[in-house]
Amino acid sequence: MADCELCGAARPTLCPVKVRDESVILAYPKGTWRGINEECLDRCHEANVNRVPIKAKNAIYAAQGMCLYSR
Ligand SMILES: [Zn+2]
Repeated sequence: MADCELCGAARPTLCPVKVRDESVILAYPKGTWRGINEECLDRCHEANVNRVPIKAKNAIYAAQGMCLYSR
C-alpha cells in the first residue's frame, strides 16, 4: 500500500508521474517521480485539457485594462 501524493488515499498501486518539484529542483533538475492514484491522475488530466493557454489569459487581462505585473 502506498499513499497518493495529492490526496493521501492509500492504494495497492499508484501511477508513477514525473513532476518538476521546485523544492528539490537543484538535486533533481530533470524532475522526480511521484505516486498518484487514478482518480487524481484523471483530475490532473482534465485540468490540463481545460486550462486556458497563458497567451490567451494575458490577452483577456490586457483587454480588461489590467496590469499583469502590479499584483
Ligand atoms: Zn490522490
